[in-house]
Amino acid sequence: MKTLPLNCNNCGAPLPVPESTRYLTCQFCDTRLEVVREGNAAFTKVLGELQERTDQISSEVRRLQLENELLKVEQNWDRESNDLKYRGQDGRGFEPSAAGGVFFIVLAVAAAIILLLLGEIFLGVFVGLFVGSLGILQIVAASNYEDSWRLYMRRKQQVLREISELPGTRKAKGPDRHNMPASSP
Ligand SMILES: [Zn+2]
Repeated sequence: MKTLPLNCNNCGAPLPVPESTRYLTCQFCDTRLEVVREGNAAFTKVLGELQERTDQISSEVRRLQLENELLKVEQNWDRESNDLKYRGQDGRGFEPSAAGGVFFIVLAVAAAIILLLLGEIFLGVFVGLFVGSLGILQIVAASNYEDSWRLYMRRKQQVLREISELPGTRKAKGPDRHNMPASSP
């Protein structure tokens, strides 16, 4: 095997290094070294053990940060969606729905027509406007709820994507082709 006549960058001792080696420990001073190649030249660079682990540690720290961020995104959405929900009489929240709003408007129009036909003009207009505006308010609330939900999902997916891009994260694999049955004609 071809070797490169390198020297330890820490103690200067001669080190014959196999061409394909990237990291090595100097046998004289025990320093971790990285072989750096620039064009035809090659030399060694001191690579502290700490430095070698820095990448790994910083990605672990980043992972913790991101997991914390994910938790915050979830908590914010819990709070926000709670505020945007309608309260039932028992205090339980439910999502405002556009269909519910449309239902109120149809109800308002029907009630108004019946009351107007009965000659109750003032009551007809009042009930129509009152119930109809409840319907409109619910449609607006439903649209706000959906906008917030989209924003929450976008933030969440952003954080999840960042986590999945960290080194050491297992990527979601596609179907394993080795175990796939051969397709029959
Ligand atoms: Zn050395």
